Amino acid sequence: MVFTEQHELIRKLARDFAQKELTPDILDQVEETGVFPKEILNKMGKAGFFGIKIPKELGGTGADTRAYVIVMEEIARVSAVASLYVSSPNSLSGGPLQLSGTPEQLEKYLRPVVTGEKILAFALTEPGAGSDAAGMTTTAVADGDYYVLNGRKTFITMAPFSDFAIVYAKTDMTKGAKGITAFIVDMTLEGVSCGKPEHKMGLIGCGTSDIILENVRVHKSDILGEMNQGFINAMKTLDIGRIGVAAQSIGVAQAALDETIKYAKERKQFGKRIADFQGISFMIAEMATKLEAAKQLLYEAAYKKDTNQNTTMAASMAKWFASEACNEICAKAVQIHGGYGYMKEYRVERLYRDCRVFTIYEGTSQVQQMVIAGQLLKK
Ligand SMILES: Cc1cc2nc3c(=O)[nH]c(=O)nc-3n(C[C@H](O)[C@H](O)[C@H](O)COP(=O)(O)OP(=O)(O)OC[C@H]3O[C@@H](n4cnc5c(N)ncnc54)[C@H](O)[C@@H]3O)c2cc1C
Repeated sequence: MVFTEQHELIRKLARDFAQKELTPDILDQVEETGVFPKEILNKMGKAGFFGIKIPKELGGTGADTRAYVIVMEEIARVSAVASLYVSSPNSLSGGPLQLSGTPEQLEKYLRPVVTGEKILAFALTEPGAGSDAAGMTTTAVADGDYYVLNGRKTFITMAPFSDFAIVYAKTDMTKGAKGITAFIVDMTLEGVSCGKPEHKMGLIGCGTSDIILENVRVHKSDILGEMNQGFINAMKTLDIGRIGVAAQSIGVAQAALDETIKYAKERKQFGKRIADFQGISFMIAEMATKLEAAKQLLYEAAYKKDTNQNTTMAASMAKWFASEACNEICAKAVQIHGGYGYMKEYRVERLYRDCRVFTIYEGTSQVQQMVIAGQLLKK
C-alpha cells in the first residue's frame, strides 16, 4: 500500500477542514461574487495547505507528494476553486522556485507565499504559444544589470491579484526552447499590467488574466536558474503540476459520484428508485470503476515522485486519464440528475463546469499523449 498511517491522518485533517470551512453558503457566495474570501485563505494558510511540499526551513510542512495529493483531492472534493489556491504555491508557481531558486530568492519569494502573505503566478502561455510553449515571443534583452522584458502572457491564474510572477522569456531568439530564461517579476514594476479578468466557464473565484510586459526592467538577481535553461525549469514544474491536476480531477469526480449515488437512491420514476433501473446502475458502476482506475494511476505517480523515480510518463498518464475520466463522470452525473442536474441548485452543475478545464490546462490531453508516446518511442 502506498499510503502510511500519517497520510490517512492528513486525509482526515483536510477532509474535516473542507467540510467545516468550505460550506455550501460560502461557496455559493464565491460563485456569485467571483471573490474567494480572504478569511478562508488565511485559515488554509494556517492549516499549512500552502506549503505541504515545501521544506520546514522555508515555513512549509515538508511533507511528501502523496500528502499533497491527498490534500488536493479532499479540498477539490468540496471546492475545485479552493484547490487551485493549494496547487499554486505547492506546485505550479512555487515549483519553479523550489527547482531553481537561490537561497536568497527562496527566502524572499517562496517563504511569504507559503504563509499566504503573498501570491505568486506562473506565466508561460502566450496568445500564440499554448501547447507549443517554446514558440513564445516574449523577449528579455540585457541592459547593464537589468533585463528588459517585452511581451504578453495569457490565461494566467491569479495574475489579477498576484504579487510576483515567474515569467518565461526568450533570451536567445535563435535557439528555440534552448533560448528561454525564467525571471521573477514583481508585479508592481513599471511596465507590468494585467488584461481584463477573463469570464470563465468554471473555477469562479480565482481570477485569470493576461500579463502585459512593456519595457519591464528586471534586475539580474531575479533571474531564476541558469540563463537559457528556463524551458527545462517549466517542463519539470509541469511534470509535478500534472500530478496536482490529476488529484483535482479525482476530488471532483468523487464528489460527482457521491452526489449521484445519493440522488439515484432518492429519485423515483415509474414507481421505482431510478437506481433500480439497469441503465442508471450500469452508468454508476462505470463511473466508480473509472474513478478507481484514475486513483491508482495518480497514487502510483505520486509514489514514484516520493521515491525519486522518473515521473514524466506516470504524471502524464495520471493527468490524462483522471481529467478525461472526471469529465465523463461529471457528464454522467448531470445525466443521472436529469433536468435538475442542469440547475444551479444542484452541485453537479458546478462540478461539470469546474472540471472542463482539467483536460486543458497544464498541458491538454493531446499534449499528455505526446509526452507518453515520446517516452515510449524515444530513440
Ligand atoms: C482557466 C485556465 C487557467 C490557466 N492558467 C495558466 C497559468 O496559470 N499559467 C500559464 O502559463 N498558462 C495557463 N493556462 C493556459 C493553458 O495551459 C493553455 O490553455 C493550454 O496549455 C493549451 O494552450 P492553448 O489554449 O493555446 O491551446 P492550443 O495549444 O492552441 O491547442 C488547441 C487544440 O489543439 C490541440 N493541439 C495542439 N497541438 C497539438 C499537437 N501537436 N497534436 C495534437 N493536438 C494538438 C490541443 O490539444 C487543443 O485541443 C490556463 C488556461 C486556462 C483555460
